[in-house]
Amino acid sequence: MELNEIVRLAENNGWDAQPNARLSAYTTFKVGGPADLLVTLPDGKAAATLLAACREKGIPTLLLGNGSNLLVGDRGVRGVVWRLDPKTAACTLHSDGVTVFCDAGLPLIRLCRFAEEKVLSGMEFAFGIPGTVGGAVFMNAGAYDGQMSDVLVSAEILEKTGEVHTVTAEQLQLGYRHSVCMDTGAIVLGATLKLTPGNREEISAKMRELLSRRRDKQPLEFPSAGSFFKRPTGHFAGALIENGGLKGFSVGGAKVSEKHAGFVINTGDATAKDICTLAEEVTRRVKEQFGVTLEPEVRFVGEF
Ligand SMILES: Cc1cc2nc3c(=O)[nH]c(=O)nc-3n(C[C@H](O)[C@H](O)[C@H](O)COP(=O)(O)OP(=O)(O)OC[C@H]3O[C@@H](n4cnc5c(N)ncnc54)[C@H](O)[C@@H]3O)c2cc1C
Repeated sequence: MELNEIVRLAENNGWDAQPNARLSAYTTFKVGGPADLLVTLPDGKAAATLLAACREKGIPTLLLGNGSNLLVGDRGVRGVVWRLDPKTAACTLHSDGVTVFCDAGLPLIRLCRFAEEKVLSGMEFAFGIPGTVGGAVFMNAGAYDGQMSDVLVSAEILEKTGEVHTVTAEQLQLGYRHSVCMDTGAIVLGATLKLTPGNREEISAKMRELLSRRRDKQPLEFPSAGSFFKRPTGHFAGALIENGGLKGFSVGGAKVSEKHAGFVINTGDATAKDICTLAEEVTRRVKEQFGVTLEPEVRFVGEF
């Protein structure tokens, strides 16, 4: 692999490029081996340039959002891992007063605060989801009866071919923790949302209420990637795991949270292998006891 050429490209463009960067520092699980090269980019234009160069040289790439839905293997990721710098990401309000344009690298929390400040309702559900706007569109993130598909109008997309265009929310085929980008490998560079004029007090109160529900129910004091498994049709993963007697079940430093059985937590020194072994055992026992197949919501990337 000609990674040196990518390092030079980064230097020429003033992008931060770290060889052998430990990805545990970039995931909320605090787990994951090194990326051959981790590049941080200021915007979508830089992303198109980097990806074109990697494509030309046959170098594999992986996009990190805020790493809040990822399990990175202990042996890390070969090729180029890249991220959009949250510091240069922004959102703006259209003159119609309800349409918001956001860069994909914007942390959701900043978008929620922006909406609150502009007295716009619609983003309250996302307050407390620790992802980026791009990751949230890609995953169709949702909580407490709200999801990205409720507010998304369109997205700016960088296709695998290098073409950049705008697609409607409908074309993204957003479903339960699904978007078409998962099938096509397209990158979300920006999102256009339509929010609703609201009441400042009500918006703030809703955000506070949802955050306090999270703090009461979720083990936020430990590193995790949120709900580890998807909700199986007609069931709740956490309830099945709890009823299967698996609360507190652990493998190495990985543990099924005692507070919320849908969360796998890192108690301090978990490896990706611990987490995988634990998830496999939980899946096996739930299947054996209840006949339900659990599927991870968390995405596994890199070498295990
Ligand atoms: C404590 C906690 C609570 C959580 N609560 C919720 C919740 O209530 N609801 C919920 O839905 N999720 C929840 N999550 C999971 C997670 O925050 C969401 O899935 C979030 O949308 C992931 O965004 P991210 O930027 O961190 O993406 P990452 O985890 O970095 O990446 C996830 C996937 O998205 C891809 N991706 C990232 N950015 C882009 C982009 N711009 N274009 C294309 N693909 C991209 C990555 O390549 C990867 O495949 C929680 C996680 C934690 C740790």
